[in-house]
Amino acid sequence: MPFELQLHCRCGHVRGVAVEVAPQSGFRFVCYCKHCQGFARFLGRPDVLDAVGGTDIFQMPGGRVKLTAGMGAIRSLSFSGKVLRWYTDCCRTPIGNTAASAGFPVVAIIHSFMSVRVGERSTDEVLGLPLCRIHEKSAIGPLPPDAPPAASFRVSGYRTSKLLGWWMKGLGRPNPFFDGKTGAPLSSPRRLTASERAALDNAV
Ligand SMILES: [Zn+2]
Ligand SMILES: [Zn+2]
Repeated sequence: MPFELQLHCRCGHVRGVAVEVAPQSGFRFVCYCKHCQGFARFLGRPDVLDAVGGTDIFQMPGGRVKLTAGMGAIRSLSFSGKVLRWYTDCCRTPIGNTAASAGFPVVAIIHSFMSVRVGERSTDEVLGLPLCRIHEKSAIGPLPPDAPPAASFRVSGYRTSKLLGWWMKGLGRPNPFFDGKTGAPLSSPRRLTASERAALDNAV
C-alpha cells in the first residue's frame, strides 16, 4: 500500500508532501560520490552522511512531490551544471537533487528532508531497502558489511525501466522545483567556484 510522506526541513519552515510512496514506486540507493559529500559539507551538515560518506537517496517521479510551505527559503547550487542540489536557507537542510531542467522526470529526495515514520513502520518498510550503492570508490573508509550491493546490470536496468515508465506516463510533471510555465528553477543555482570545490574536496 503506498504512503503519503511528510517532507520538511530540520526547523520545519519548508514543508512538502510526497504521495504514492512505496518501495516499487521509487528507487532507493546510497551515493558515495564526492559531490554528495561536498554538498553536505558545504551546508555544514556532515550528519546527513553515513559513517563512510554515503547519502541515502530516494528517487521518485517529480509529479508526486509537492512543496507546500516556505518556498522562499529554497536554494540550489550546482557543482557541475548537470545536477541541481536543493537545500533550505533557513536551517541548511539538504532537500534533494534534480536534473538541470524540469523535463527529466525524477526528483531525488535526500533522507534529511523526509519523515519516513508511518505509524510503526520503519524507513526500510516504507521505502524498501537501498537497492544499490554507487560511486563507492569515493567512500571515505571501508564499506560496512551491511552496505547496499554494488549496482548490478539487473538493478541498473530496473532503474532505467522505472524512469522510462515515469516519463512515458507523464508522472514527472509538474516538477516542484521548477516554474510550471517558464521551466525556470525555483531559485537560480549558485555555481560553486573552483576554489570552493577544492576546499570542499580537501575537507574530507
Ligand atoms: Zn528550515
Ligand atoms: Zn552522489
